[in-house]
Amino acid sequence: MARDAALLIAWMRRLAATIRAHEAELTALDAAIGDGDHGANLARGFNKVEQKLDAEMPATPAALFRLVGMTLIGWVGGAAGPLYGTFFLEAGKAAGSAAELDEAGLVRCLAAGLAGVKARGKAEPGDKTMVDALTPAIEALGSGGSLAEAGRAARAGAKATAPLVARKGRASYLGERAIGHVDPGATSSVLLIESLAEAG
Ligand code: ADP
Ligand code: MG
Repeated sequence: MARDAALLIAWMRRLAATIRAHEAELTALDAAIGDGDHGANLARGFNKVEQKLDAEMPATPAALFRLVGMTLIGWVGGAAGPLYGTFFLEAGKAAGSAAELDEAGLVRCLAAGLAGVKARGKAEPGDKTMVDALTPAIEALGSGGSLAEAGRAARAGAKATAPLVARKGRASYLGERAIGHVDPGATSSVLLIESLAEAG
């Protein structure tokens, strides 16, 4: 299936609504092993994304991803703002001038986004971060899995952060006290992938 900017905009609008619906959950997760601002940070950023999309409609996937990336960097704050911002900026670069993304193109953009997150945050799978949800999801897509399967892989990846000690971000200051808690950023990454599956 080919995704043009309009379809990707639908993904971003759905993600904004999903973040709002899960704001309290993300806040609670971050209150347990961070500073309790992850839900509010993301809600602020994605509300701004929606406002910008009300005012202008990017014509290409690259333009959309760039708008989202810049907005998240400007409005989310914390560790997650620059990381999710980088995700979308790198996805936008990978989109090039294409008017629409086929399946392979979408996977290329998402993989470029993840590579950007890893480079910026210096995190690898197993560090108890958003990388733990994004990596299995994008791997699933890369090996021909559906978006629904990618969503389930992200969910499983996030769940698997619970027994880990965090090696990056604020939760790393807690040492073993982070054990037993799911990572908030991994959880918001599940929402990112699931909302893509819902948008189609
Ligand atoms: P802050 O920790 O600054 O309050 P947030 O609460 O918005 O920022 O985001 C926290 C989330 O960011 C973590 O749950 C984790 O998934 C992610 N994160 C933090 N540091 C890194 C990193 N170096 N690489 C990847 N993800 C990270
Ligand atoms: Mg926080």
